[in-house]
This record gives sequence, C-alpha cells and structure tokens, in this order.
Amino acid sequence: MHVPGPSYRAVSFAVNLPAAESADVFDFRRKSTLGVALIAFVFVAPFTVNNFIQGRYGPGLWSALVLVILAINAWTILRGRFSPALTLIGLVPAMIFFLTVALNDQGIIGALWSYPALISFYFMLPERKAWLANAVLLAIVLPRTWMMIEPAIAARVVATLLVVSAFSAMFIRIITNQQRRLHELVVTDTLTGLLNRTLLNDTLDDAIQHSTRSGVPMTLAALDLDHFKKINDTLGHDAGDAVLRGVGELLRHRVRRIDRLFRTGGEEILALLYGADAGSGRQVAEDMRAAIAAHAFLPDHPVTVSIGVATLLPGEDRQTWIKRSDENLYRAKSAGRNRVVA
Ligand code: GH3
Ligand code: MG
Ligand code: MG
Repeated sequence: MHVPGPSYRAVSFAVNLPAAESADVFDFRRKSTLGVALIAFVFVAPFTVNNFIQGRYGPGLWSALVLVILAINAWTILRGRFSPALTLIGLVPAMIFFLTVALNDQGIIGALWSYPALISFYFMLPERKAWLANAVLLAIVLPRTWMMIEPAIAARVVATLLVVSAFSAMFIRIITNQQRRLHELVVTDTLTGLLNRTLLNDTLDDAIQHSTRSGVPMTLAALDLDHFKKINDTLGHDAGDAVLRGVGELLRHRVRRIDRLFRTGGEEILALLYGADAGSGRQVAEDMRAAIAAHAFLPDHPVTVSIGVATLLPGEDRQTWIKRSDENLYRAKSAGRNRVVA
C-alpha cells in the first residue's frame, strides 16, 4: 500500500537530537586524551629534561609546551570537564612545532616522534580534524625527511609514516562504525525498529528545553493498539508480532526525520512531534490513526489504534506532559477506540 509522507509544516529550526551517541564518542576522546597525557608524562618528560640538560633548548621548550597543554587537558578532564578545542588549537600545533624543531635539531631521529603523534591525533580529535592534523604533520615531516637522508632510508621512513597514518585512519573508522552500530542496537527496539525507552527521558527533556528557549511547539501522541489481546488470542502471538512490526514500519514512514517514535510498552507507542502545535499535532495523530485503520495488516481482521495527544504547555515538566497524553489516550479508549483525543 502506498503510504503518503508527512503533510504537516516543514521544520525550519535547528534541534539538538538526542545526545547519547555523541556523548559516547565524546567520552572516547576524553579518555583517550587523558591516556595520551599520562603516557606522555612517563615517556616524553625524561627526554624533555634531557634536552634542557644537553642544552637543546628548542626541542626542550616545545616538548615542555606539549606536556603543559596535556597537563591542562588532563587536569580539566579529571575535574569532569574537557575542552576539545584545546587539543585542536593548542596541542596539535605544539606537537607539530616540536617535530619541526626536533627534525632541525636532531635530524631523522627527531622524526621518530611523528609515529606516536600521528596515531594520537586519531584518538583525540574528530575524524576529519584528525585527517587534517595528519596531513599537516606529514606535509612538514615527509619533505624534510626526504632531503635529509639517503633515499633508501628516506623511502622507508616515508612509507612507514604513511602506513601508520593510513592504518590509524582505518582502525578509527572501524571503531567509529562499530560504536554507531552498538549505539543503534542499544536504543532500538528489535521487533518494531522504533526507539526503545533508553533515550526517552533525555529526548523529552531536550525537547522541553528547546521549546522553552525557542518557543517551538512540541506535541506528544500516545498510541495504544485496540483489543490487541484478541489478535494474540485468536491468531497467535506471531500474528500479533507481525502487526506490531507492520505498525512500526507504517509509522516510521509517516513521520519526519526530526520526529521520534518510541515503543514504550508491549503495544504502546509514544510519538514526539517536533514543532507540531495543538492543531498540527492533532492532524498528524489523526493521519496516523486513519493510515493504520486503512492498512490491511491481517486478512479479515481490522487493526485500529487509539491516540491521546498532548501539546507541551509553558512550564510543564516531562512527567505531567506524558500523563496528559496518557489521560487523553484513556479517554479515546473509553469513547469507543479507533479515535484521537486531544
Ligand atoms: P485495549 O483496546 O484496551 O488496549 O485492549 P488490549 O487488548 O490492547 O489491552 P492491553 O493494551 O492491556 O493489551 C496489551 C496486550 O499486548 C497484552 C499482551 O499480550 C500484548 N503484547 C504485549 N507485548 C507484546 C509483543 O511483543 N508481542 C505480542 N504479540 N503481543 C504483545
Ligand atoms: Mg496497552
Ligand atoms: Mg491495547
């Protein structure tokens, strides 16, 4: 059956979608940066001290600066805060300057620090920024290496630097994809493909905050399938499951990317309609109800849904908002089912 797309007004505001995935990625970089700082203190600090003792003030000062920035990073992370900007505009340039000075001062031996630097960028920075930092570092180190030593050794240094950079880029790509996949699994209900409850509270709290800040309306629609027990009892649990899958798929195709559909219970679904005021929220709910009633999920067995709609009121909290949508759902059931109450 052809399912028409969402008809209510286009979204023209920016929203912060649920932050859980980016929070995982952020935590990964935060911990990596802390690890880099601790390891650098153990392995780099002795060389920094030795540089000063030997009178090599250039490499000494730049590596000291790298350590100072890492120390500030570690300190802020341990205090529960983290500034990725400090890594990008402080640490990365300092590391690249250190390498330039080390190359000038110590020749090819100085280039050896490029290997850990290249790898660490991928773990501390967002992917594209890590590529950029790698490109800048390689653009500085490779030509100098080539000019500095005999071609047979230079070729190997250049090749191994490129391989380490490419390996790191590939590994981080795989890790990022796996993180995304795991995140999807954690937040998705396997039967219907809708969201499960994991992100429900955070998403609604974000929506309330966004609405309070910007005045954008938000509407909840609480759906419950009508007489679903009868479907299970007469046609079996598998038929019930098939209906739930079908309803999930139908609803997913009817809402916009910005809306969120949660399977909150067995055959209960909560739709968060971003930017929908009372009028359009009611209209969307009515479209959902009509589409489900019109769809032939089972031969000779109607499937209908009752929907309670609640548009967020000024100053309302999450619990009260959900409760109002539930109360309207209850009214829709009492009034005879297969209807929307707003
Ligand atoms: P009402 O119109 O009042 O909502 O009637 P109802 O029969 O739908 O009543 P209720 O909402 O209380 O029933 C929910 C039923 O949904 C009970 C349970 O057997 C069934 N159910 C819950 N989860 C699943 C599931 O994952 N698969 C299947 N097949 N059935 C489920
Ligand atoms: Mg129910
Ligand atoms: Mg029901």
